Amino acid sequence: MLSVRDLRASYGSIEALQGTSLEVREGELVGLVGHNGVGKSTTLKAIAGVLKPTGGRIEWLGEPLRGGAAATIRAGIAYVPEDRRIFGGLSVEENLRLGATTRSDADGVAADVERELERFPALKKLYKRRAGNLSGGEQQMLAISRALISRPKLLLLDEPTLGLAPIVIDTLFATIASLRDEGLTVLLVEQNVRKTIQVADRAYVMAPGGRIELEGAARELERSDAFRAGYLSLA
Ligand code: ATP
Repeated sequence: MLSVRDLRASYGSIEALQGTSLEVREGELVGLVGHNGVGKSTTLKAIAGVLKPTGGRIEWLGEPLRGGAAATIRAGIAYVPEDRRIFGGLSVEENLRLGATTRSDADGVAADVERELERFPALKKLYKRRAGNLSGGEQQMLAISRALISRPKLLLLDEPTLGLAPIVIDTLFATIASLRDEGLTVLLVEQNVRKTIQVADRAYVMAPGGRIELEGAARELERSDAFRAGYLSLA
């Protein structure tokens, strides 16, 4: 469904990605993990069209993915960045409705908003509140809901649980797993390697420069000595 080949991306003279390759197949929940600063966020930014690659290919449904962020959203790829991009001065409702800018079916949008409020009952209680007053966890739920209202085929999540309370982290991981169970394809960048490997179908482990160091079925990676030693501190 998504194919990334030899992707290169730079910030000025720093080449953050020096040849990243990965695949995401339809219906999969794929984890992308690795230590800080190896290029995970940069990979998602390039796929989402907010950062122009300097080399390599990104193919989506068999076609090159080009045209920046707006084209990516139209192609059915929703991106939730690490900073969530919630509009603090707008209400929860208004933020959710911003997810529908690519849609013209008002009834469908209303039904999807209802569905999101059922998915995250915390948001239902806060519906008319200013989003700036929400907790970090509530803002993350709002950012994910807003992305889902665009009815994406692929959801890109960048560190959705960063800085959140353990109970909220568990809720979010359960939600991400249930999205996959509903048929959504998800590429999840996470610091929380242990929980990611528990919910993912497959995972990629990124090393500095965006190089993929290990990859495979999550269950197999979890058992591999190299993965346990480097990323689970269990060996
Ligand atoms: P983290 O988990 O810390 O976000 P990451 O694996 O997502 O790490 P990236 O954020 O993709 O890593 O960063 C990859 C490299 O690019 C790092 O060396 C980082 O310092 C650098 N980098 C990231 N964003 C910028 C930027 N806006 N300007 C300059 N360098 C950047």
